[in-house]
Amino acid sequence: MKSQDYISREDKYGAHNYHPLPVVLDRGEGVFVWDVEDKRYFDFLSAYSAVNQGHCNPKIVDAMIEQSKKLTLTSRAFYNSVLGEYEEYVTKYFGYDKVLPMNSGAEGDETALKLCRKWAYEKKGIAENEAKIIVCEGNFHGRTITIISMSTDPDSYKGFGPYTPGFITVPYNDLSALEKALEDPNVAGFLVEPIQGEAGVYVPEDGYIKKAYDLCKKKNVLFIADEVQTGIARTGKMLACDHENVRPDILILGKALSGGVYPVSAVLADDDIMLTIKPGEHGSTFGGNPVAAKVAIAALKVVKEEKLADNAARLGEIFRKEMKKINSPMVELVRGKGLLNAIIIRPKDGKTAWDVCVALKENGLLAKPTHEHIIRFAPPLVITEDQIMEAANIIKKTILAF
Ligand code: PLP
Repeated sequence: MKSQDYISREDKYGAHNYHPLPVVLDRGEGVFVWDVEDKRYFDFLSAYSAVNQGHCNPKIVDAMIEQSKKLTLTSRAFYNSVLGEYEEYVTKYFGYDKVLPMNSGAEGDETALKLCRKWAYEKKGIAENEAKIIVCEGNFHGRTITIISMSTDPDSYKGFGPYTPGFITVPYNDLSALEKALEDPNVAGFLVEPIQGEAGVYVPEDGYIKKAYDLCKKKNVLFIADEVQTGIARTGKMLACDHENVRPDILILGKALSGGVYPVSAVLADDDIMLTIKPGEHGSTFGGNPVAAKVAIAALKVVKEEKLADNAARLGEIFRKEMKKINSPMVELVRGKGLLNAIIIRPKDGKTAWDVCVALKENGLLAKPTHEHIIRFAPPLVITEDQIMEAANIIKKTILAF
């Protein structure tokens, strides 16, 4: 079968809820993936920052294989011999009392919202069903009904109403709007991405996260960080909130928590928040299963052992410097932090960010536009300096050819 045969089959039998680049991937190793014709590409998407530890990282894959042969799923109806080990490891790793394990990022966000509401009623004393959570314009937290109810992107929410109430939207990176919204005594939480990934790697001003946190503290409002995309070393620190020394009250992780090997997400919080949810009030058949637990431990070990945060910080600087050198009217702006970066593309002769991504693919590098005019560049964090220079040259050459 050729690439086109695979594409046609997916088109015929799969729902059309994605618009993939026309490339059919067959295997991956480190920063590279190969298509079914055996052409090699730099992967500059990393499955939306899930594959930070590199494709098929042997330490993580081995952990999965070993545990898979022993015990895969018990449900949480029983204890298992691995979950506690993971819970201890991940809570000490990030410095929280407790973890609540889930699978996808969206479930992590849903869990955090429930936790925040429960805390609002039991601890803050907000009247039942009155709690509100502040969210940001341009947010992306996943695809469930409640999460799209918070979205300001019509592609996400339009046609899927009625929506879940209880959210106040403020502009991102706008402290006075946040301060004003916080005046409502029924506000229980502020949910924020430290950098808005899906919105187009939108980096707020320095100090925004810290000041937003301080405003929340003044009003006894939980600061909830969605680090599903920015967490686990992507932005040059273990968490993007670490850049401003902010410790979120509720921390949501996903994606690279498993190195892209398995769906693993987590919500971390201290006891006064986490213990407001009681047995039977929340859960997931697969959340915290033994394979997920072993995979996540291995994935987190790799991040520290291979110093991926330092690598992301150092190579991110180099990458942005190289991108800013591209002398083309198509490059409107380069922005990002660590190895989460984007170029804003100014269309030229009718050619858009999509056309640039198709040309990049021809030249051996995979990236995906987010919104019409933005290309995100987020390689696995195991990338070397030589590789980042080689990739930067592919991007330069491709854009200059337009
Ligand atoms: N939160 C953020 C910040 C994300 O970027 C994403 C996915 O891109 C999600 C949540 C949802 O994660 P998932 O697709 O695993 O449900």
